[in-house]
Amino acid sequence: MKTPFITKEQIEEIVKTYPTPFHIYDEKGIRENARRLRRAFSWNPGFREFFAVKATPTPAILQILHEEGCGTDCSSLAELIMSEKSGITGQDIMFSSNDTPAEEFAYAAKLGGTINLDDITHIELLKNTCGIPKRISCRFNPGGTFAIANAIMDNPGDAKYGMTEEQLFDAYKQLKAEGAEEFGLHAFLASNTVTNDYYPTLAGILFRLAVKIKRETGIELSFINLSGGIGVPYTPDKEPNDILAIGEGVRKMFEEILVPAGMENLSVYTELGRFMLAPYGHLVTKAIHEKHIYKEYIGVDACAADLMRPAMYGAYHHITVAGKENAPADHVYDVAGSLCENNDKFAIDRELPEIEKGDYLIIHDTGAHGAAMGYNYNGRLHSAELLLREDGSVTQIRRPQTLDDYFATISDYWNAL
Ligand SMILES: *Cc1c(COP(=O)(O)O)cnc(C)c1O
Repeated sequence: MKTPFITKEQIEEIVKTYPTPFHIYDEKGIRENARRLRRAFSWNPGFREFFAVKATPTPAILQILHEEGCGTDCSSLAELIMSEKSGITGQDIMFSSNDTPAEEFAYAAKLGGTINLDDITHIELLKNTCGIPKRISCRFNPGGTFAIANAIMDNPGDAKYGMTEEQLFDAYKQLKAEGAEEFGLHAFLASNTVTNDYYPTLAGILFRLAVKIKRETGIELSFINLSGGIGVPYTPDKEPNDILAIGEGVRKMFEEILVPAGMENLSVYTELGRFMLAPYGHLVTKAIHEKHIYKEYIGVDACAADLMRPAMYGAYHHITVAGKENAPADHVYDVAGSLCENNDKFAIDRELPEIEKGDYLIIHDTGAHGAAMGYNYNGRLHSAELLLREDGSVTQIRRPQTLDDYFATISDYWNAL
């Protein structure tokens, strides 16, 4: 069962001011979840979550998470600037980028963020742009496949990220020789895992590696960044991850591997995106057409430009018809948007209650990689983002894109005609 955080009555009130389609976020849910994460890792005094900005690049969201003790994980100039303008700077920033332009390293360094190097050749680049910072991190890629209890989760060997183990050891030695004093280790080996074993397994690998680094180079790491990858159940049949069990699993690895090596002062970091936001966002859209051909279609006023995951990955997003939460799902529909692309379907052969024109559809789990992946195909404009406050009021935290916004980059050309 998936229950939306807004009701039909609330939507009817909201649309008087902010018409559909819109993304809406649940402040209460976001804060409670961030607090659970902190509690799960409260055994580690240096614990810190750096929210992956790419998941939901919206300042109001970054600020709520900052109030809950989170920093930001940025990987582009725009994300760095957004973090800065949201009042999140210095060591509250982790800059985990790849294929990085030199000027972005310089900007991250200027803000005092912690740079996480994706490649050994970036040491030279960094030296020549802004110098080697005192505090720095390196990204590890173990190659091969990544498995949990014999089940293959992902293929790091095919991933473009990170350094080999040999390069990693070399990188730490070079960085130390160049004056770096504080070191971190980072790896991201599987995405959207719906198991409580991912972080503990990853922690086991990285903690052992940290001990080996200390033994072989004399360098003692000060933080290990478990990065992202804790997923959410998009389908209603799956159990959500238990973040308290995950934190406990990482603690056991810490006690088993790091404490005996005298490394109990090491801080654990995370860079979660999806887990922090996905369940706390809905895309709300109105049924504007129904069509009966070889299949039954419901046409809605949102499209894949508002939520790309179904079109891009064939991803499932649960749909609730507002006000019909308890009605029998005795109709089968394709729920489609307006793009001239047949993959612009939010649902295919989905059992839903009977939908009438004017009904509001709530698309679940759109808080991460929803608005963030918006695009302008077919001249479709980005929708508004709204925040449902803890007191039940609604604030617009990003206005909808206008046609003037869309035409802005060609207006000089037009005006010169
Ligand atoms: C995407 C990304 C994250 C966040 O991943 P989630 O799966 O959303 O938690 C964290 N760190 C880096 C470097 C990323 O690219």
